[in-house]
Amino acid sequence: MFSVTTRDELARFEPGSRCCMLAESAAIARMTGRFAGGRWPGCLGRFEMATESAALARRIVSFMRDLFDLRPSVKAARRKGGALGNLYVVSVPYDEKARAALGEMGVVSKRQGHDGRGAMRPGVPWGLLSKQCCRRAYLRGAFLARGYVQNPGKAYHLEIVTDVEPHARGIVRIAESFGVAARMSRRRRGYMVYVKGGDDVAQLLRVTGAHASVIALESVRVMRGVRGDVNRAVNCDTANVAKAIDAGIAQVESIRELMAHIGMASLTPGLQEIARLRLEHPEASLKELGEMLAPPITKSAANHRMRRLVDLARRAGRN
Ligand SMILES: [Zn+2]
Repeated sequence: MFSVTTRDELARFEPGSRCCMLAESAAIARMTGRFAGGRWPGCLGRFEMATESAALARRIVSFMRDLFDLRPSVKAARRKGGALGNLYVVSVPYDEKARAALGEMGVVSKRQGHDGRGAMRPGVPWGLLSKQCCRRAYLRGAFLARGYVQNPGKAYHLEIVTDVEPHARGIVRIAESFGVAARMSRRRRGYMVYVKGGDDVAQLLRVTGAHASVIALESVRVMRGVRGDVNRAVNCDTANVAKAIDAGIAQVESIRELMAHIGMASLTPGLQEIARLRLEHPEASLKELGEMLAPPITKSAANHRMRRLVDLARRAGRN
């Protein structure tokens, strides 16, 4: 029940600016969407987003209209196995306009796949998440799409389920940037990102904007007399993760600029390696990037190479 009221609250959250709407939609489309139909030549079928929540279905329709001028249709269907509750399927024909929308949301790669559909991107679209407001929105969308929170009277547990590991890791990383200790574990189908403990569950709900749910949770905690030190929420770990993500995104921009000016081939192999890794992992710390190299290099060596890249980009930009 607590989970349902939390999702209902979030499904009515004032979306704010376009950037946040885009980020939230990206999470929802990525996590509830799939391609359907259109297996014959010349027909690309539909893109369908399925949810059990009528409020979320309405939110998807209005976001698609406001952001992309798309007019999705909504069908209510019984869930497979005759389980209780409806399933709402929001669907758009997969035409040029829908393809552009999914490209802008970073859900599918803009490059066209062999079947004309493009492929679902595995990771989180970091390019849309350079602002904190948008990272909040992405978590909100992820929770709306596939989230669940246990009734606080029973346990402090919140989870978000997603299909592939890079996406789960991205969600963990975003949560960490707000000081939430998130973990992930493998499921029979997909991956579960989960948060335990009153402080962390409350903080994650607060970040997504579920303020009424936070109040409800906190009052349960007060009654149970197990209220922890909520004020520790902002510790230096948080600030560091957020800073690392900001720096990573800035480095990606520098590298892209460098590519545009001089191209990858003119860089030394060492610089190429780290540039490529950074483009693939905008969220990773320099220490992590260094460890991904074979053979691995130290944080300070990774830092040295990155500085060199940023410096080259700055000079290339000036010429
Ligand atoms: Zn935003």
